[in-house]
Amino acid sequence: RQGWGSGTDTIKKAGYADIGGLDDVVNTLRESVELPLRHPEVLQHLGITPRRGVLLHGPPGCGKTLLARAVACESGALFLSVSGPELITKWHGESEERLRELFRHAREGQPAVIFFDELDAVAQARSADESLRLDSRFAAQLLTLMDGVHDLGQVFILGATNRIDLLDSALLRPGRFDIIVEVPSPDRDGRLKILEIHTQALPLDESVSLSRIADLATGMTGADIALLAREAAYVALRRKLPLQALLERVTSVPGHELRTVLVTMHDM
Ligand code: ATP
Repeated sequence: RQGWGSGTDTIKKAGYADIGGLDDVVNTLRESVELPLRHPEVLQHLGITPRRGVLLHGPPGCGKTLLARAVACESGALFLSVSGPELITKWHGESEERLRELFRHAREGQPAVIFFDELDAVAQARSADESLRLDSRFAAQLLTLMDGVHDLGQVFILGATNRIDLLDSALLRPGRFDIIVEVPSPDRDGRLKILEIHTQALPLDESVSLSRIADLATGMTGADIALLAREAAYVALRRKLPLQALLERVTSVPGHELRTVLVTMHDM
């Protein structure tokens, strides 16, 4: 389905299989978004209304955007994504109208997930920059729209922030973001799973031990590991086939020669 915002019309597909670790967070999102879409009768039977807003918080590069994209894709929902800084700068002057349009779009295209990335940029409780404070008209509009989200049908709000400490508590009241979920840095097992995901398509050298790399990669985020895997592939490529030679013969590189490009992540 189509995406919206962030200057792009198509959204990169993602699924739960692309997410390493974070099983509890995935389950919370599935329960909040996928379950009410697939089995509304279960919630009706329990006599509860579905959650409408989930706030994800944690350090940068640990998968918040990936999680939001994956749950929308796997639930067959429209994914509409906007980032806080974009709301302030790109939509400057017409932010409130654009925000209403975003919610309208979600209602018309439902089931839909609206993802607010870097939410702290528009909803800070105490910012030196007045335009970032929640008492702006824009933020008041956001709260009003969030309060009315139950009437829109199957529209879910996901938010993400690296700085939950800065967020205005008005946003965190029940009925707006119903639950707050931490997306932490990966532990050792998480790093191993993320490594497995990001090296899946790489022809790994037999000597490579992902388990050992997971041990060594203490402190690395999912984004760091994704970058590590790609850069290791470039290192290996450069070793086996110097760039000049590769480019000069680019149309005639035989497949078997490329298969000899072995990724040795130990060399990074
Ligand atoms: P930011 O706060 O900077 O927006 P984020 O928490 O939203 O960061 P993502 O944008 O989701 O992080 O992560 C960036 C990239 O890092 C992802 O597209 C993915 O390639 C990789 N990545 C991060 N976390 C994971 C993970 N848990 N499993 C697999 N890949 C991951």
